Amino acid sequence: MKKKYIIAIDGPVGSGKSTIARMVAKRLNYIYVDTGAMYRALTLKALQTKTSMDDPQKLVELAQTADIKFKSENNILKVLLDSNDVTTQIRDPHVTRNVVHVANIPELRGIMVERQRTLGKKGGVVVEGRDIATVVFPKAQRKFFLDASFEERLERRYKELISEGKNISKEDLAEDIKIRDISDKQRKVGALKQAKDAIYLDTTGLNIDEVIEKVLSYV
Ligand code: C5P
Repeated sequence: MKKKYIIAIDGPVGSGKSTIARMVAKRLNYIYVDTGAMYRALTLKALQTKTSMDDPQKLVELAQTADIKFKSENNILKVLLDSNDVTTQIRDPHVTRNVVHVANIPELRGIMVERQRTLGKKGGVVVEGRDIATVVFPKAQRKFFLDASFEERLERRYKELISEGKNISKEDLAEDIKIRDISDKQRKVGALKQAKDAIYLDTTGLNIDEVIEKVLSYV
């Protein structure tokens, strides 16, 4: 490829966007940016510092000073928070449940969006999240909205968490995903929605390779 594109991928929990974004980045020799990991890292920091989830101003201050970096090691994206590797910790169900408080604050999102733009502005990136094609990079050269049926999204997340050794029931997970879906779609700023010019891909029943090939065929 001659041009270094910005490829934006949005979608709900379990739509496959993290896996697809990471693999597409690898195939194109692009950088992979996981914006959900940034909101997760901030949430972890709030929990560690016992910052109240009901205090937006304090959470914004935390966002201003938090040092969040990515490091790629053997195609695994490591997330560093204030120089500490928090890759595993940020996937903890307790963090997942609390992200909503952090991600719903417009001013805090503004700080995150600026950082995401800095990471991706030179192109040659696959950026994945909820508001990438709509807010972060509305001029991205390629935009995708990944989706799948609720049952399949639940099944994928469940298998993923079990394989990571997490102890969670499918019923509780279904509830968590429903709550996240609603808050992602209804937040006032940066809500999850398909950009007008994004390519919609329903990944229900498709395997990872099939989705990757579809995405690459558009790129
Ligand atoms: O993608 P992931 O599930 O890791 O994202 C964690 C949470 O961060 C999501 O539930 C969502 O609420 C939030 N998020 C967001 N904007 C993004 C990416 C993630 O609000 N661009």
